[in-house]
Amino acid sequence: MGKIDNDKVINGEGYQLTTLDKAIGLARSNSVWPLPFATSCCGIEFMATMGSAYDMSRFGMERLSFSPRQADLLIVAGTISKKLGPILKQVYEQMAEPKWVLSVGACASSGGIFDTYSVLQGIDRIIPVDVYVPGCPPRPEQIIDGVMNIHKLVKKESLRRRYSSEYRDLMKEYKIEMKDPDVK
Ligand code: SF4
Repeated sequence: MGKIDNDKVINGEGYQLTTLDKAIGLARSNSVWPLPFATSCCGIEFMATMGSAYDMSRFGMERLSFSPRQADLLIVAGTISKKLGPILKQVYEQMAEPKWVLSVGACASSGGIFDTYSVLQGIDRIIPVDVYVPGCPPRPEQIIDGVMNIHKLVKKESLRRRYSSEYRDLMKEYKIEMKDPDVK
């Protein structure tokens, strides 16, 4: 487990106090369960990233989930056609909160070289994205850098992010229904 970088940490002899938010953020960031939504060449780079040479288990991320209900990081790697868009959105909606999205490569982030009638010009047209990884394709080191940026977000994020007005407005923008009865 990493260090808690927090000005509210109180160190004493044999103990350390911090806020619940920070402690849970630290635990969450070291146990992210990714769901790979890989459609083309960037997916191959992601497979390389998961191999032993790069060893994602160093970050508590060797367990991939192919069920949205047991995943909290959606990794979109590859070209997304407009026809596939609603399926990607459905997968995102099926993931439980808290959840994050990593867009890997030029195609997922902007349509890449495929400026055509059939390709979605960036997944952020249908779902919110937390971190973008540039490249065509990005190297595994770049994907790991993207994952590290996701970890930073997870660590810092408040436990109650989903109840914030900003988050609710973002979901409304994407026409994503929030099912929690507490959220109006
Ligand atoms: S960004 Fe490049 S490598 Fe990645 S899916 Fe698109 S064409 Fe393939």
